Amino acid sequence: MTDRLYYHDSFLYEFDAVVIEVRSPSAPEVRAAVVLDRTAFYPTSGGQVFDTGWIVAASNPQQRVRIEEVTETDDGTILHFVAGTAALQKGSCIHGSVDVDRRRDHMQQHSGQHVLSAAFVRLFDMPTVSFHMGADSCSIDLDTKNLTSAQVEAAEALANDVISQDRRVEIRFVTQEEASGLGLRKLPPAEQEKLRLIDIQDFDLTACGGTHVTATGQIGCLLLRKTEKVRQGWRVEFVCGKRAVATARRDYVTLTETARLSSGHIWELPQQVRKLQEESRTSRKSREQLLEEIAELHAGQLLAATPETASRKLIVRSYADRDLTFIKLLAQRLTRQSGAAVALLASTSPPAALVFAQSTGQPFDMGVLMKEALGQLGGRGGGSRDMAQGGPAQIDQIETVLAELAARLQC
Ligand SMILES: [Zn+2]
Repeated sequence: MTDRLYYHDSFLYEFDAVVIEVRSPSAPEVRAAVVLDRTAFYPTSGGQVFDTGWIVAASNPQQRVRIEEVTETDDGTILHFVAGTAALQKGSCIHGSVDVDRRRDHMQQHSGQHVLSAAFVRLFDMPTVSFHMGADSCSIDLDTKNLTSAQVEAAEALANDVISQDRRVEIRFVTQEEASGLGLRKLPPAEQEKLRLIDIQDFDLTACGGTHVTATGQIGCLLLRKTEKVRQGWRVEFVCGKRAVATARRDYVTLTETARLSSGHIWELPQQVRKLQEESRTSRKSREQLLEEIAELHAGQLLAATPETASRKLIVRSYADRDLTFIKLLAQRLTRQSGAAVALLASTSPPAALVFAQSTGQPFDMGVLMKEALGQLGGRGGGSRDMAQGGPAQIDQIETVLAELAARLQC
């Protein structure tokens, strides 16, 4: 069995050990792994993710071997997955170096989690049912039906008080029997004989195998972020220490960039955005109204300029700078203002559109005409006897096709 040096000292980053087994890659695992007689590398467990780092063989000190991942098998073997095994053989003496920045970050997050979980229990009797440590943020799941933003803020405030009080954090080993009378926040699985407890002075006592700070001040600070309802309760996202600063920095940069666009202060952004939304609604409404007025006037002009032959006014027009909405409005106005209008209208600005319409009582079938036009131009569309619309696939031929249809209607 590997002696777990991290159980006793989370700040031990350098150590010597002997390789007791080298495991060759076996599918689907493509990396080799080594087992050591003792290790300071933490394997993924209890919500905390693995350490990384390097080992060098005493016989070949020039060649550093990267520790890419550390896991623990069901029988308690700690596997150090390595990038190459050239210098490592059973019996080799090695020196291991833990990636310090990564370990410190994990300590800040994990110890922060204990403080936060205890704060939710103390204030609101909300137990933590799971802990997840991600690359950017961490989360706990609380066993509760409801969680208000006031509760979130209160838990965050208490956790930060405990952090600033710089309380001692101690590791204790006890038997199951001893543990039963200590009022642990979280009870460990019963099969373990010896329990490792993390004791945050006068605040929290819980069984845990993770690497922790030695005083709460080392957590730095704790920032709660998103909360969301999940199946078994509420998920609370949080970041601690340097991650909290990095996250707040990113938020600030994003907010500042946004505020610059509206030349206001970041605290005025909600007001600014509400104002912009209101303005955009108003301008959309007035644009719609103007378009209707233009369509109305344009329809009048077109009807006045088109001579009536065989008691109908045939209007054929293609617009490069108007969209479907406008040509529809125009078709409605033409057929409303005159009982003799037959309109074949097109918008050639992508996405191209066709609208065919006739005044009630005119003898053609716009739906059928539209099918014919699209038969030549490709695309989809259709409609009723008096009004049809379509989206032609080809733009180049639109005017030719409209002219052909118009020539037939005039016969
Ligand atoms: Zn823990």
